[in-house]
Amino acid sequence: MAAVIIDGRELAKEIELALAGEIKKFSVKPLLAVVLAGDDPASKIYVGMKTKRANACGIDTADFHYPNEITTEELKSEIKKIASGANGRVPSGILVQLPLPKHINTDEVMTALPPGMDVDGLLPQSQGLMFQGQDTFLPCTPHGILKLIDKANLLLGNDIASIAGKKAVVLGRSLIVGRPLGIMLLKRNCTVTYCHSFTKNLQEECRQADILVAAIGKPRMVTAEYVKPSAIVIDVGITRVGDKIVGDVDYDSVSQIAGAITPVPGGVGPMTIAMLLSNVVKASAG
Ligand code: NDP
Repeated sequence: MAAVIIDGRELAKEIELALAGEIKKFSVKPLLAVVLAGDDPASKIYVGMKTKRANACGIDTADFHYPNEITTEELKSEIKKIASGANGRVPSGILVQLPLPKHINTDEVMTALPPGMDVDGLLPQSQGLMFQGQDTFLPCTPHGILKLIDKANLLLGNDIASIAGKKAVVLGRSLIVGRPLGIMLLKRNCTVTYCHSFTKNLQEECRQADILVAAIGKPRMVTAEYVKPSAIVIDVGITRVGDKIVGDVDYDSVSQIAGAITPVPGGVGPMTIAMLLSNVVKASAG
């Protein structure tokens, strides 16, 4: 039987509608400062989408666009100014669009960001609190993936709590997706296996998974042979192939045997933005 499709656009819309309702009750609208350095076309598109969806929810945005030539020290100093409200208003959160130009030391720049404004959940402070299971800004993509897994379980007629004890395989261990996701799944009582480029017998490892998340950036690498029948499969990959955006999962073959699957586009991407907006609301409420 063909897999249930988990529609990330629809779920993101539901979440953003609820956020808009919450924001209406605030006396002051949240403000998201958006920092972009350089002219990377993909980054410009992402920033544009985030700004549009934030505004649609009732979040004010302030754009700070710097030339490619900006130095690490200059960008740090600009972020400190933005955080202090030197431009008119203290923001609720600051989004630094990554990747920054190659000559910039990203870790160094991020030290300018106050942890209370880290709406991307990428600072060591946020990730440390998450590691300890404490309340913090969760990183947006893995948080969105968790929501998609919960939705998949509901669509399959399972309780959300049924995730406990399931075997989850996280393919990819980057600091923004795979690594934090594994910690979050562990908190939900999954038995977690991380796979990466050194993993032996990758297909067999993946085939054990009740929940398989592919975040490797290798278009259509995960074919039906990697997937246990009826598994929940989440495809994080985004690669441009010709004029198409393609995921890490071979959708045509895998959707024939998986229990539930996210499409690309329209799966994890929209949820990443919804979780960013949810962090902005959290930042302004807290
Ligand atoms: P990275 O390149 O930072 O990490 C890729 C990970 O995949 C690494 O851990 C790497 O292993 C592993 N890997 C690469 N090739 C293989 C392979 N052949 N077999 C097993 N493991 C492999 O990528 P990101 O985590 O930043 O992104 C992954 C994908 O997700 C990309 O396509 C990206 O565009 C997309 N993405 C989508 C988002 C969204 O909102 N939808 C948000 C963020 C990312 P090792 O560590 O050993 O090198």
